[in-house]
Amino acid sequence: MTTIADRIDAAKARITQAEKQAQRPLDSVQLLAVSKTKPASDLRLAFEAGQTQFGENYLQEALDKQQQLSDLNIQWHFIGPIQSNKTRPIAEHFDWVHSVERLKVAQRLSNQRPDSMAELNVCLQVNISGEASKSGVSANELLPLAKQVAALPHLTLRGLMVIPQATDNPEHQQQQFSEVKALFDQLKSQYDSVDTLSMGMSGDLEVAVEQGSTMVRIGTAIFGARNKREQ
Ligand SMILES: *Cc1c(COP(=O)(O)O)cnc(C)c1O
Repeated sequence: MTTIADRIDAAKARITQAEKQAQRPLDSVQLLAVSKTKPASDLRLAFEAGQTQFGENYLQEALDKQQQLSDLNIQWHFIGPIQSNKTRPIAEHFDWVHSVERLKVAQRLSNQRPDSMAELNVCLQVNISGEASKSGVSANELLPLAKQVAALPHLTLRGLMVIPQATDNPEHQQQQFSEVKALFDQLKSQYDSVDTLSMGMSGDLEVAVEQGSTMVRIGTAIFGARNKREQ
């Protein structure tokens, strides 16, 4: 039986190997542990193994775990779809949001971010597959949205997040990542605050790092297959 600590080490080893392979500096890619559906006790084990950044998708579940883990100095990242009537608890309880795709949501997050807290770090979610059903802004909409988000007082625009279209074709996978990297470079050249490309999951982190990711979001490779959600 491998433990959560073993699997964090293995994920880090994969990242290091991919950085070397791509001739990128070591430690240029951060590990975000995606803990949706997993109990607080699993996050505690991961924290004890040195993991401090956690990504959650479901608001109520995340808030419950934050309460149970309030003794730990965790950086919380919200990475799931955002309903505009649920922005307040996100603004009040997270350090990062990766899934911003609408100005209205960004405005609400900024307005609702308490003055006493640091600015909320945000990534804009991009949709390069062009599928209407997928979340994220299209390449055309990205720069206009970025300009408006960057001007909001309680947010810091940090970069982009992508969930690529599932594909068996390695070239198509690489192509999607490299398109996002090009958009990221464009954004970075315009905003000093932009430094984060949130790209890559358990199954594709090597390709994502090769194509320029700076943060990989790893769930199953650390915590195992997802549990069924209650409710
Ligand atoms: C669940 C999830 C992940 C983690 O995916 P794995 O394949 O389990 O590593 C990453 N990013 C987002 C946005 C997710 O919802």
